Amino acid sequence: MLLLRTNPYKCTKLVLCSFQWEEISGLDENYTPIRTYQVCQVMEPNQNNWLRTSWIEKGDAQRIFVELKFTLRDCNSLPGVVGTCKETFNLYYQETDSEVGRNIRENQYVKIDTIAADESFTQGDLGERKMKLNTEVRIIGPLSRRGFYLAFQDVGACIALVSVKVYYKKCWSIIENLATFPDTVTGSEFSSLVEVEGMCVSDAEEEADNAPKMHCSAEGEWLVPIGKCICKAGFHQKGFICIEVSCGRGFYKSSSQDLQCSRCPAHSYNDREGLWRCDCEDGYYRAHSDPPSVACTRPPSAPQNLVYNINQTTVSLEWSPPADMGGRNDVTYRIMCRRCSWEPEECVPCGGNVGYSPQQAELVDTYVNVVDLLAHANYTFEVEAVNGVSDLSRTQRLFAAVSVATSQAAPSQVSEVIRERVQQRSVQLSWQEPEQPNGVITEYEIKYYEKDQKDRIYSTVKSRSTSATVNNLKPSTAYVFQIRAFTTAGYGTYGPRLEITTKEEASGTSRTHAQAEMISVLLPRPDQLIVCSSTSLPVRHCGYSKADQEGDEELYFQFKFPGTKTYIDPETYEDPNRAVHQFAKELDASCIKIERVIGAGEFGEVCSGRMKLPGKRDTSVAIKTLKVGYSEKQRRDFLCEASIMGQFDHPNVVHLEGVVTRGKPVMIVIEYMENGSLDAFLRKHDGQFTVIQLVGMLRGIAAGMRYLSDMGYVHRDLAARNILVNSNLVCKVSDFGLSRVIDDDPEAVYTTTGGKIPVRWTAMEAIQYRKFTSASDVWSYGIVMWEVMSYGERPYWDMSNQDVIKAIEEGYRLPAPMDCPPGLHQLMLDCWQKDRADRPKFDQIVGILDKMIRNPNTLKTPLGTCTRPISPLLDQSTPDFTTFRSVGEWLEAIKMERYKDNFTAEGYSSLESVARMSIEDVMSLGITLVGHQKKIMSNIQTMRAQMLNLHGTGIQV
Ligand code: AMP
Repeated sequence: MLLLRTNPYKCTKLVLCSFQWEEISGLDENYTPIRTYQVCQVMEPNQNNWLRTSWIEKGDAQRIFVELKFTLRDCNSLPGVVGTCKETFNLYYQETDSEVGRNIRENQYVKIDTIAADESFTQGDLGERKMKLNTEVRIIGPLSRRGFYLAFQDVGACIALVSVKVYYKKCWSIIENLATFPDTVTGSEFSSLVEVEGMCVSDAEEEADNAPKMHCSAEGEWLVPIGKCICKAGFHQKGFICIEVSCGRGFYKSSSQDLQCSRCPAHSYNDREGLWRCDCEDGYYRAHSDPPSVACTRPPSAPQNLVYNINQTTVSLEWSPPADMGGRNDVTYRIMCRRCSWEPEECVPCGGNVGYSPQQAELVDTYVNVVDLLAHANYTFEVEAVNGVSDLSRTQRLFAAVSVATSQAAPSQVSEVIRERVQQRSVQLSWQEPEQPNGVITEYEIKYYEKDQKDRIYSTVKSRSTSATVNNLKPSTAYVFQIRAFTTAGYGTYGPRLEITTKEEASGTSRTHAQAEMISVLLPRPDQLIVCSSTSLPVRHCGYSKADQEGDEELYFQFKFPGTKTYIDPETYEDPNRAVHQFAKELDASCIKIERVIGAGEFGEVCSGRMKLPGKRDTSVAIKTLKVGYSEKQRRDFLCEASIMGQFDHPNVVHLEGVVTRGKPVMIVIEYMENGSLDAFLRKHDGQFTVIQLVGMLRGIAAGMRYLSDMGYVHRDLAARNILVNSNLVCKVSDFGLSRVIDDDPEAVYTTTGGKIPVRWTAMEAIQYRKFTSASDVWSYGIVMWEVMSYGERPYWDMSNQDVIKAIEEGYRLPAPMDCPPGLHQLMLDCWQKDRADRPKFDQIVGILDKMIRNPNTLKTPLGTCTRPISPLLDQSTPDFTTFRSVGEWLEAIKMERYKDNFTAEGYSSLESVARMSIEDVMSLGITLVGHQKKIMSNIQTMRAQMLNLHGTGIQV
């Protein structure tokens, strides 16, 4: 039986469709029995004998191969067949989607080829069963139906069809470059290549951007491999597969490309076999970009040798690199800036107003300039070294830190100037306070000149407020104006030039007339010209008004008529409630939020809290409360302070926000002064300020007192405890409870009915016959100066009040505190002149302090030149060293017992040895606080003097 072998087609029987084709048994060349289909109608002309296969389903194939094996008889070997015998036959096919009937319709068949034999056989061969077998292959395609038939047409040949093999070609599935390519049927054309994507074998992954591909050719061969898969980390290639890498403990293999396991890099370990990387030891890290082959690293240690330099409001920081860079070379630095109140624990980040040059973070160099800090403020700077693993570490940050107090700085520029009114001969200007006043601005200077003048001659006008009128200008003339602000730190730089042309002269107005308008030209300093015009004076003569205080105060008070009385004693009001509501704003209790108690006042607790008025910003306030169960008199006395305070408006006098009288508790709401009262503040920060800072505070107090005395107000209780300090070190006069008015009559003296007098602060005439005047306030101011310069020391120490009065009467005065510039002590002594007429006025005191501030050289004191002199007065107040038996007892007496061990450790066991100590010796004991060094040194000096008196022997120091 003839079998049709196909690939992959199953063997199929041929179907005989003609009686001329016969199925005949025979033997093949190996004598194996076979079945053949034969035809041999060579004698008759016009033969047309068909033989057809059964239906062959084509499957995926598009290009079919047909291989025929047959024998064909040579016509020459057949006698008598000339003209009828043929030596070829035809091969056909028909495409259908399913089987069709047995009948052959010739016209439905497509001819594939005419098949001729390469070798035909002659007579006798067939009988001898020795046949010459021919093999022919033909290709059909592309096929589009589900299946097909093949047909053989005999046209008069002598043929034996031995086998028909029908097959198609495909590329067999293979693994190439660690990717599997599936069985793929070839394309329909001879030239077509089928692109096939490979799938990585397990534990392999496509190489980045290089996916594996192959091409299946029409001949069923895989061609042109592209891309590849690689074994995943931890696996390596073995033949066609990836197998897990297995390295021993302490070794790793990061990729299959590595042929060998590597030892774990420094500071890493591996306690299991076969890992592809080693873990970092505790405290060590690997940055995301670090390959497994590099050592684990850690954050750097803190930068070293951090030093700073302060230039007003700029702080320059410099440091050395950390001792331990953490094993990396990508160390940079970042700066953390915090602004601290005078309480060290209260620090807040500096915020965006502060600038860093070159930058705040990622600093490569070891320096930075921090600019635009506030003047007189405490800052802490932390410099942290960071590297690529700092952010991975959860250990505590290591940084170098310094605490820095900025010095005073001149105010920043006055930049926003507005021309309010331009006349023929005058220009009225107003402006905004500089963005960084760096203290209390006490005046502005307006510099101006004619724009087109050849030799530029400047004139200046001063103003205490943010507006001024410049008079005596020429009409139709272009002027250039510039403004700068002044604080105790000096003048700021001038703001930008503003050009203004005065109006044209109206006909009939003459220059002479204009000159007549000028009342006075003062020359307080050769370079300053204070001009005052009559146009502004009449208003001021009308008496005190809020607007006046904000105006050119200096000019106003220089021209003030004597006896102008501006302060109104609330007690002169029949109904004190009216006085309160005349001078103090009634606040809605719902706008006030009490937060915590900060002190005890005479009438109840003093609290801090917040005030939020409609349409205004929320502000910090201090709230004095009237305790419950008060009498009507107590209520009146309590609110009396508000009636007084409410009349004042000056940067150095504490400001009243308002009162709450309708509701309970009754409250007086005052601006909040963060650093509380001056005496406690100074004691807490003993030795921490520069002389200029201390003088700046004194200047502020004097300016506040000048304002009060100009208002005709006598304080009577001026003392450091009644001065409040805000966060900018601005001092403000407060506590108006005890104060009383001076009568117009210079001889009139207020007599109290048993009111307490603060003896140590009070002038003799006030103690003796209650003569309270601004001059007695000046005496008290001298005591405040002494308190400030000695950092809150108690005046006359622990002498009794009686002894103080006695000493003063005998002419003794407090000596200069340690390191007090002689000029300041002289000013104190002037304030303590017995005759009150000889004492300076507050106005003069402000002037003297301003001068000192402008010329800081006058405030320089060589260490030890201004020490407390030994005087009978002091003998009563300083410890008597003869009574001490040991250094320890002496230290206890001067409240420095914490340093006992320091003295003992350095061998200072006797008072004699202590008396020989110099300031350097004291410092070498490890006593770092300047205030404590000063205190100990001052007591040593006194001890030395006492010993000298006692023994009459010289002590060499
Ligand atoms: P006084 O009744 O005015 O003597 O106030 C008592 C204490 O409360 C003072 O010594 C201050 O410590 C504190 N105090 C008073 N007023 C204020 C204020 N405006 N800001 C901050 N603390 C204040």
